[in-house]
Parts: sequence; C-alpha cells; structure tokens
Amino acid sequence: MIQQRIKRKLYKLTHPVVGEIWMLHRVVEHVSNVPEQKELEVTVAWLEQKINEYRSKGYTFVSIDNLPEHGRWVCLTFDDGYRDNHTLAYPMLKRLSVPFTVYVTSGFIDNQLSMWWYPNQQLGMSSDELQLMDANPLCTIGAHTVSHPKLDTLTREQQYREIAESKQTLEALLGHEIKHFSFPHGAHNDDTLAICRELGFRTVVQSWGGPLRRGENPYPLPRINMTTK
Ligand SMILES: [Zn+2]
Repeated sequence: MIQQRIKRKLYKLTHPVVGEIWMLHRVVEHVSNVPEQKELEVTVAWLEQKINEYRSKGYTFVSIDNLPEHGRWVCLTFDDGYRDNHTLAYPMLKRLSVPFTVYVTSGFIDNQLSMWWYPNQQLGMSSDELQLMDANPLCTIGAHTVSHPKLDTLTREQQYREIAESKQTLEALLGHEIKHFSFPHGAHNDDTLAICRELGFRTVVQSWGGPLRRGENPYPLPRINMTTK
C-alpha cells in the first residue's frame, strides 16, 4: 500500500502535468434548473472567464490536432453538436482566438434524431452551421457516433456501424478526413478501441481521467468534465 503510494508520487514527480482536455457540452445564456440538464450546461460568460483565468496563469489553448508535449496547455472540446456551440460559443472563441473541437453525433445534425435528454427540443446544429464553423481553422470537427448509444452495450458489428457511419457522414458533409472521436457517455470496451484504430482515428477521448502528464499519449485520452459546480 505505502509502496504503491510512493510509486505514484514518484511517477507524478517525473511526469508533471502538461495539459488538460476540457469536456463541455452546451453553452447557454442561463443554466437550466433541471439537474440532468444543468450538468451539461455552462454560460458563455463563465466559459470566457475560465479561458481568461487560465491564460493569465500562463496556459495556452491548443488544438486536439497538435497536443504539445511540453508547456501548460488546455484543449477545449464540446460533445454532441449542440446549436448553441455555433450561436453562442463560437463568436466568443473566435474573438479570443481559442481553438476548439466539436464531437458531432451525426444523427443530431439538422435534428434528424432527437436528443432524448432534452425532450421536445430541437438543439442540434444544422449542416450549414457545421460547415461554416468547420471552415475556420480554429475549429476541428470530430465524430461521436450516429445515435449516441453506450457503445459497450452493442455487438462489435453494431459498434462498427455507429462509429464508421458517423465518420463517413461528417466526411461527406465537410469534404475532408475526420481524425478524432469521442465515446458517447464515455462508454467503450476493447472492441471500440480496436475499431477506432482500424478506422484511422488519430485520437479518441473519454469522459474522465484528469489531466495529461508528460510522456503520456494514451488511447483513449483522458478529459476533465467542466461544469459550473
Ligand atoms: Zn455525448
């Protein structure tokens, strides 16, 4: 027990934290009162303040396409493909020149499928909005399956379809390769990882795990859930 703790301490000393990949979902004007929804929401003012706070502490904001091995950085990511990422977050991120990634669930584009955790609301981004954002070098679009299932509850074939189809749909819409993937609900197993490698995803991210340390390049990458709590 003590030996393990010493080992961990030594590891931390020799592998200092270099970066944090932040996981966000919705960016809103006012946070909801519904607990399950509140967890997925931050206000645009809160996010802007966090970015400024980290910048003043010497952190740089970097793209998922190019995570540095040194320095102190933050990589901003949004899951699902909410319309407010385009209408509220994007103008602020452009103004501050902050790179960001949006992992889009392809079925949510143009609200073909609904997000069941937001009943009776059409919150998905349109194809046009997605194309507009993708044209800006600050923005990286990643895939996030077709219908947002828990991948580890599916057969390998079903997983393959969910992952590959979302990649293909986004590639057809945007006209370039999609290199990054995020697991819905963070759920994954060995098949998920093997499929992602087979399809050529350069990075995959999960929904937990804390910061990234020097010399680490895990598949999947850890993230930090950013909420206003
Ligand atoms: Zn998601």
